[in-house]
Amino acid sequence: MFENEKRELIKAGMKLDRYGLIALGGGNVSMRMPTREILMSPSGMIYEELEPDDVVVLDIDGNIIEGKRRPSSDVDALLYILRSMPGMNAVIHTHQPYATGIGLTCDEFPCNLTTLANATQGAVTVAPYASPNSLLMGQNTVDYLNGKLAVILKHHGVVSVGDSLKQALYACVYLEEAAKAYVAAKSISVNIAMMTEAQVTETVEVFKTYGQK
Ligand code: 13P
Ligand code: ZN
Repeated sequence: MFENEKRELIKAGMKLDRYGLIALGGGNVSMRMPTREILMSPSGMIYEELEPDDVVVLDIDGNIIEGKRRPSSDVDALLYILRSMPGMNAVIHTHQPYATGIGLTCDEFPCNLTTLANATQGAVTVAPYASPNSLLMGQNTVDYLNGKLAVILKHHGVVSVGDSLKQALYACVYLEEAAKAYVAAKSISVNIAMMTEAQVTETVEVFKTYGQK
């Protein structure tokens, strides 16, 4: 069942590792099928060691449809997000250190780069602390996304969402790139130029025709 989509999910997990967004088995990847089943990474496993059979298939209520592994320990939060956001079909959770580190210093990461504007649709909010594995982690994600495609979870990591796995992946990867640029700028000056609302809006528009059709 969903062999190709499971492979796609594993590849996305490996990219999280490649771009420095997780270490070992941290974070998780979930995606909703057009027929409504949820594919979810298994708890505590390393993506490059995963086989399609390790990916768990669940219904939106958390009943396991297929798979011998335990699903992500964040399952309650992840299903809450997917239930609350019917237009979003992918949820990625990471422990990306730059964005998470910035989240310890502020309540919002303002938009500093065009790539961030495109990938998340602008400034990224920092949600208050919630324990991993808790429903509150999911509730905070939904409450603090603020119309964007990523949110920073204080003391924990990042959750990104998308209508596709690719969109959720781009949101967390480009958030980390922007966070690194921010830290680089901060190491030189206390005054950092951020993008204006008009620049963010213009960039989102420009990127609508970016890349391949
Ligand atoms: P899982 O491997 O159980 O998904 O846990 C990773 C994690 O990041 C918990 O917040
Ligand atoms: Zn986590």
